Amino acid sequence: MKDKTIHIIGAGPAGLAAAINLAKAGYEAIVHEKHDDVGNRFDGDFQGIENWSSKEDALSFLKKIGIQINFICAPYRTGHFYGPNLKQVEIKASRPLFYLIERGVGTGSFDQGLKQQALAAGVQFIWNDNVQKLPSEKTIVGTGPKAADVIAKGILFKTSHPNAYYGFLDDRIAPKGYAYLLINEGKATFATCMFENFRDSDHYFEGALKMMQKTVNIDIQEPVPFGGFGNFFLPASKHKNDKALYVGESAGFQDALWGFGIRYALLSGYLAARSILNGEDYEKLTRRYILPSQKASLANRLVFDRFGNWGHQRMLNHMSRSDDALGILQGYYQLSLSRRLLFRIAKRWYHTRLIDKQCMHKNCNCIWCRCGKEDDTRKAELEKMMIA
Ligand SMILES: Cc1cc2nc3c(=O)[nH]c(=O)nc-3n(C[C@H](O)[C@H](O)[C@H](O)COP(=O)(O)OP(=O)(O)OC[C@H]3O[C@@H](n4cnc5c(N)ncnc54)[C@H](O)[C@@H]3O)c2cc1C
Repeated sequence: MKDKTIHIIGAGPAGLAAAINLAKAGYEAIVHEKHDDVGNRFDGDFQGIENWSSKEDALSFLKKIGIQINFICAPYRTGHFYGPNLKQVEIKASRPLFYLIERGVGTGSFDQGLKQQALAAGVQFIWNDNVQKLPSEKTIVGTGPKAADVIAKGILFKTSHPNAYYGFLDDRIAPKGYAYLLINEGKATFATCMFENFRDSDHYFEGALKMMQKTVNIDIQEPVPFGGFGNFFLPASKHKNDKALYVGESAGFQDALWGFGIRYALLSGYLAARSILNGEDYEKLTRRYILPSQKASLANRLVFDRFGNWGHQRMLNHMSRSDDALGILQGYYQLSLSRRLLFRIAKRWYHTRLIDKQCMHKNCNCIWCRCGKEDDTRKAELEKMMIA
């Protein structure tokens, strides 16, 4: 008889999407989480489930992968952006550009919503279980990022400003990245996302805050600092090892252009469950459904990096002239011939950054395993640096 017990390490969106689907299909899904609850990686900050990397609307995508909406999930369509010339640009879209969600341990958060769905489906949780060795049974690993390819530093605050979102593209305040302001029902998240110069994050954050206050008329009440980091790499032969399927950011599934990893996390978790349920090859599934847009995102990153502020302004001008910026963004995520070529160049260009720096492989001698003991120290240092 088929063994129907599956261990899932990490209660993030990737691990939980896998657990929910497996438990619904009658499997005994056991989630091991190193914290005492879900969402500990986040601080109640707003994030967006992006709606541009695929033609399929995010809500229908969620439904398809077996996720219900039992968390704050607010559609955001028109928004305002500022490029280096500080002129406001309005971005319009034919459907929501993203769905705003809250991350963290709080009621109504995406993480709590997924946990409730998992519990309802019969998933078992083992809290405070910092797994260091893979169990011998079939395992899904969804432990999130360990190396930082992008960092965010920002504040959460209360405000009387109505619901809205703003984006800021300027290498002087967000090197190779962007700053964002998301406002929902009297609460706001403002952060700068940097893809390089992490050590100067304080300086960039201060600049970003000044730029935001100069351009947006907003009151900031009770600000609290927060920060985080993300990891991107190409999942080279990630799954040929024994019984482990890697999902979410622990598999490198992350958007290299802007760090929108939630859809990748959920999709990879769902695909891992599907491979177990139907006997399909997980690697083939990810190559078909995830890798093309991931490759496109890396090609986009190369362009975004190379053209700097000049490119940012042009991109914003281009999008503002369109009645549907979504169509333009969707185009960016198509792996066209030109993007395939750019991807090949990008793969070489970012060669050292694309190495998988983490691993839970058995008897493995990779860099991450050899430095395994540094994991928490290194993570703590990064977090300290971002929140200070
Ligand atoms: C500040 C910030 C803003 C972001 N904004 C957006 C956004 O707007 N849109 C978007 O799409 N993406 C965004 N992202 C990225 C997105 O949050 C991640 O891509 C997504 O959460 C990845 O999900 P995951 O399940 O792979 O990993 P995680 O969410 O990191 O979950 C991993 C889980 O595994 C647990 N764990 C780790 N190691 C172990 C272990 N050894 N044993 C047991 N448990 C373990 C962790 O505690 C955690 O609960 C943002 C990220 C940051 C940091």
